[in-house]
Amino acid sequence: MPKGAAHVLSLVLVLGAIFLVRELGDSHGGHVFLDRHPPAVTDDGISVYFSPHGGCEAAVVDRINSAQHSIDMQAYTFTSASIAQALADAQSRGVAVRAVLDEQATNEHDTEALYLKDHGIAVYTDGDHPIAHNKVIVLDARTVITGSFNFTRQAENANAENLIILADRPTIAAAYERNFEFHLSHSQPFTGMLQPMREHTR
Ligand SMILES: [Zn+2]
Repeated sequence: MPKGAAHVLSLVLVLGAIFLVRELGDSHGGHVFLDRHPPAVTDDGISVYFSPHGGCEAAVVDRINSAQHSIDMQAYTFTSASIAQALADAQSRGVAVRAVLDEQATNEHDTEALYLKDHGIAVYTDGDHPIAHNKVIVLDARTVITGSFNFTRQAENANAENLIILADRPTIAAAYERNFEFHLSHSQPFTGMLQPMREHTR
């Protein structure tokens, strides 16, 4: 093979590999590899996971997939395509999904907010705090997912994080639902347009 053709071929191969990696990493098409692990411990319906590579993201996706009636999420940064897709799938099977996201993080990061909105999910942004730093998902008013784990790929693959799932705890879930409603009450519907920055010191 002429040298020039070999260079062109190798360039095509490299670009193809980059494209493939991006697809595997970013797409909503169900191609994302979810790293499933058993919880570090389960005791009396409470399960704990740790990042990196401890199965936090997969655990969140699996719980969302099992929801039947309602999902209320509070999030700071939200870039996990897998979690966004699970929420969209839940919405399309009749689960009422609502999301309250930190306003500034939603403005600054390449978030999944628009994807959620485009899939009919009620998305709001909370700009009432220096940061709306909660990471909480309440499922069917019975199960609470929380911890330090942001709903991002980086939180799964690189960060030091923890995730705790409190299953079948309606009293605990009710407290988180009241907190969700409180933040919802001063949040704005997400329009897909960038909001003007508020004066906050972080
Ligand atoms: Zn708030």
